[in-house]
Amino acid sequence: MVCTLDSMAGLFDEPSVSYVQVAVERGIDQFQDGLTYGVPNRLHPLHIGQLVTVPLGKGNSPTQAWVIQTNELSPTLPKGKEAKQVFDTVRDTILLQTDLVELAKWMSQYYYTPIGPTLATMLPGPVRHGTGLVTRQLVDLATNPPQVSITKKQQHVVDTLSGLPDTERPLEPSTLMKLANIGSRGPIERLIDHGQLTCHHVTRVEASWFRQSVDTSTPEKLTDEQTSAIENIASTFSEYSSHLLFGVTGSGKTEVYIRLIEKAIANGGVALYLVPEISLTPQTAARLMGRFPDKRIAVLHSALTKSQRHQQWCLVSDGKADIVLGARSAVFAPIQEHQLRIVIVDEEHDHSFKQEQAPRYHGRDVAIRRAWMAKCPIVLGSATPSMESWWNATYRKISTVHTLTKRAPGLSSPDIEVVDMKHERRQGEIGSSVLSEKLERAIHQTIAKGGQVLLLLNRRGFAPWIACSNRTCGWMMKCDHCDSSMVYHRRKPLEQAGFVRCHHCSTEQRVPKQCPDCSKKIIQLGAGTQRVEAILRETLQIPNEQIARLDSDTMGKSSDLHSMLDKFGKGEIKILLGTQMIAKGLDFPNVQLVGVIDADTAIDLPDFRAAERTYQIVSQVCGRCGRGKETAKAIIQTFSPHASPIILASKGEYTQFASEELTFRKTAQVPPVLRMARFIIRDRTFENAAGRADSLADRLSSIASENVVVSTATACVLPRIADWFRFDVIVTAPTSKELQTFLKIARKSVHASRDLAVDIDPISML
Ligand code: ADP
Ligand code: ZN
Ligand code: ZN
Repeated sequence: MVCTLDSMAGLFDEPSVSYVQVAVERGIDQFQDGLTYGVPNRLHPLHIGQLVTVPLGKGNSPTQAWVIQTNELSPTLPKGKEAKQVFDTVRDTILLQTDLVELAKWMSQYYYTPIGPTLATMLPGPVRHGTGLVTRQLVDLATNPPQVSITKKQQHVVDTLSGLPDTERPLEPSTLMKLANIGSRGPIERLIDHGQLTCHHVTRVEASWFRQSVDTSTPEKLTDEQTSAIENIASTFSEYSSHLLFGVTGSGKTEVYIRLIEKAIANGGVALYLVPEISLTPQTAARLMGRFPDKRIAVLHSALTKSQRHQQWCLVSDGKADIVLGARSAVFAPIQEHQLRIVIVDEEHDHSFKQEQAPRYHGRDVAIRRAWMAKCPIVLGSATPSMESWWNATYRKISTVHTLTKRAPGLSSPDIEVVDMKHERRQGEIGSSVLSEKLERAIHQTIAKGGQVLLLLNRRGFAPWIACSNRTCGWMMKCDHCDSSMVYHRRKPLEQAGFVRCHHCSTEQRVPKQCPDCSKKIIQLGAGTQRVEAILRETLQIPNEQIARLDSDTMGKSSDLHSMLDKFGKGEIKILLGTQMIAKGLDFPNVQLVGVIDADTAIDLPDFRAAERTYQIVSQVCGRCGRGKETAKAIIQTFSPHASPIILASKGEYTQFASEELTFRKTAQVPPVLRMARFIIRDRTFENAAGRADSLADRLSSIASENVVVSTATACVLPRIADWFRFDVIVTAPTSKELQTFLKIARKSVHASRDLAVDIDPISML
């Protein structure tokens, strides 16, 4: 136990009546033990999960901290020393329930992050800052009113109030005015002045439930596969169990979740339903609201306003929500542990569940922990399960697979065609063969017969490279601050003028008129979504208003996104073009053609998950069509038509892909076959970064036991980002337990900081 000692006599006059351990929010590398402080009588008792201010450091500067443990006994301190005392509470209410504090302790250990910032992550900013709290005046009858004469009207107000049941008092003056049928507040205010009525103020969140368009469609009959998945999972309701619902897109997974939620909340339970990015899948909320018209559904995600987020959170913490739907951070929704009856993680393979800032947690994995703590089942659903979940189910057998092999009745499977782009190169500028003739023709045909088109290209901007036209020169425009090329963007879709931007540090520059090395013409190489948009308009002659582009450059506000999706739903927009955002949850029945413009964007990444990502994206985007009556087609353009993930994804052979991929992972000795931690050093100079990384690698090796492998320090795939030089050291161990044992020792001498990130179970390998 670490204790803060008070040697400043006279600072704390009152004796401490109890003790607490607190976690300071920022700046201190402490783990689950926290710091001990005394509690003066005026603040006793404090509770776990309260936010308080404590004196910190030599100057005793007031600092916010969370109470993480309460003790009656005084800590053992050296003679003459006394524990410092908590200054005050920040809010009276307990902000974090005990089980969430426990979860934070686990996360702090597991993810190698101090506990203070972990706790801070759990609580949405608007809740902490009380955004949207409204103060209301409430009036009630005084208990011992003085004997004074009052007017008839005033008496009528008193009588009205006395006639109300206890549950309806106290109430707002305006409500009382209505009930007493009086036209002004005058009588009420005079009664307060005379002491006949009491008046006090309460501060609370004025919450309301979301209302939006709903989808009530219900299948008449479940398929046998759906029925058996539901029965098997529902038989485990009273204990922890983990399930993988593996079903192709459109196989009716959401229907399975809905039936399970129905059962889970039947007796007052609460269901937690996580999706990758909810603003992209308004359909999920619409379906839940349509199917549970008399249940209360809280929605938690980043596209809400601050006060909406606070409101939704309070609805959950007040125990008013039956279903909580949200993105990654909704895993920390304040659902009472004993009420949590089921956890669902849809599209569990999606990388947006991983937070790429400290604490670098994976929402899916924290959800598993939460279900385990609450002793309830967790269902991970996907058409393309992550290798981690597949490995857990098929090799480690710590979760059960339920398979939906066919698309739901009424849905068709698209015809999938792989186009070899090596044969499609046409005359002219390199990079001009963006759309193959096949895809071009299919776009025209689809639109001609009234269908709609989805086009996927996982690259923003107009052209990913700016280079010299003189091949012997070889100049290419790089970012001044990063080891990456500058991406050409057009200012506006219909203008030629443009600029270049670095996608890693967001620096922008003007495009040079000519090559700075040899003065020859500059050319734009390759294609991003903007260029495809231009080709559709200029070469294919598709009217501008029939094309919409969806990527993080166009998606400013979620209202823009909703109106775009709305127009696409109504058929006003014929072609929706975008980055992987369009591969996520969208389902529009009239999509008859899906085109993957470059299936190779992920395949060449220096990342052991490159094949997995390629498989996922091809397969997810193909799942976006075939929801209507017309036969649908998917065209996949690639320079590697024989690459296994592309062939297998186009045939829908996930099981075979997974087994090949796991064989590769075994040979390469990478996750999920073993567990990984990545230490990333950054520094302002290359030499410093290299030097620090070398000594880090030495230190980690010196404490590694036999089964733990520590790599040498190497420059990251992107060695420089925003003028920081980056090196990493990779640690692997056969099991999570062995890795954690190692990390526990490492933490004693190696502290995570702004210049040393520690990423457990890393997803991004850049
Ligand atoms: P997934 O979540 O696997 O993509 P959904 O649950 O969204 O699949 O189902 C796809 C479509 O099929 C939805 O419109 C859904 O209403 C419908 N559907 C699901 N199950 C059935 C069923 N048993 N019979 C008929 N239609 C179904
Ligand atoms: Zn840059
Ligand atoms: Zn040149």
